[in-house]
Amino acid sequence: MAEIIDGKKISAQIKEEVKVAVAELAKREIFVTLAVIQVGADPASSVYVGNKKKACEYVGFRSLSYELPEETTQEELLSLIEELNGRADVNGILVQLPLPEQISEENVIQTISPDKDVDGFHVQNVGRLNVGTKGFVSCTPAGIIELLKRTGISIEGKECVVVGRSNIVGKPMAALLLRENGTVTVCHSRTKNLAEITGRADILIAALGKPKFITEEYIKDGAVVIDVGIHRQENGKLCGDVDFDSVKEKASYITPVPGGVGPMTIAMLMVNCLQSTENILD
Ligand code: NDP
Repeated sequence: MAEIIDGKKISAQIKEEVKVAVAELAKREIFVTLAVIQVGADPASSVYVGNKKKACEYVGFRSLSYELPEETTQEELLSLIEELNGRADVNGILVQLPLPEQISEENVIQTISPDKDVDGFHVQNVGRLNVGTKGFVSCTPAGIIELLKRTGISIEGKECVVVGRSNIVGKPMAALLLRENGTVTVCHSRTKNLAEITGRADILIAALGKPKFITEEYIKDGAVVIDVGIHRQENGKLCGDVDFDSVKEKASYITPVPGGVGPMTIAMLMVNCLQSTENILD
């Protein structure tokens, strides 16, 4: 029976550490400010944005909130981002995705200054991650590395399998595991014999966006299983990409949904915002 990796507890520890660092900076009259932009009123986005603002308040950041109407043009959004890029009192800029169809997400992400790109999506930060220099790292995979490290799970030399190759989760996850000296395989929708490959994993990261897809047949005895998926079931409860009930019997460690990877994403956003301010001081 697997040990549960408590993302809620670990994320709370990280937020406490950020809070202490923010209080130290405040003594020197240095403040951390995150600009949060939401376009339209998608209910899920509103919940995410609300949680991010709450976390900012908790750790002692200032947050500037921009709630733009659904019909905002790309030009209007890009000009707001340019303005925020130029403001010395704004350290981080976050644009909540998805955006309405008249706006290209790619254009928006690449317009945010790489030094304020606390989501770690800008091509310069993606490049820095892959080359191995300092930059912002996408929050969800960065959070997974923290979960593993703080649980005492070593990555070095382990067979790591990532299921999913998105730009925000799968690819940066693979780069981070490689940086930690794991032996990394990335699977996707065209992968053949998926269960054979995942069955070799010491550490399996499930980020494919399919509810309860990863069942016990995909798991090696004693594997560490990290579930990135979030899905709302018909009964209103949340579940992940992993079939928790069957997999927990075979795995050595497992993250639950909710309370696993999810809370880490926001905690790592706070870490990135802090880093955005410390970078200026370097
Ligand atoms: P995407 O839909 O962007 O990517 C899914 C990936 O999984 C793709 O690379 C796809 O392959 C691959 N895939 C799909 N079906 C299969 C399959 N049957 N076998 C193998 N690979 C498959 O998703 P995201 O990366 O954005 O998110 C993944 C999940 O994580 C979602 O449930 C999302 O809600 C959740 N999520 C949770 C976060 C959190 O904070 N906890 C943050 C971000 C996401 P291909 O490239 O070939 O299409």
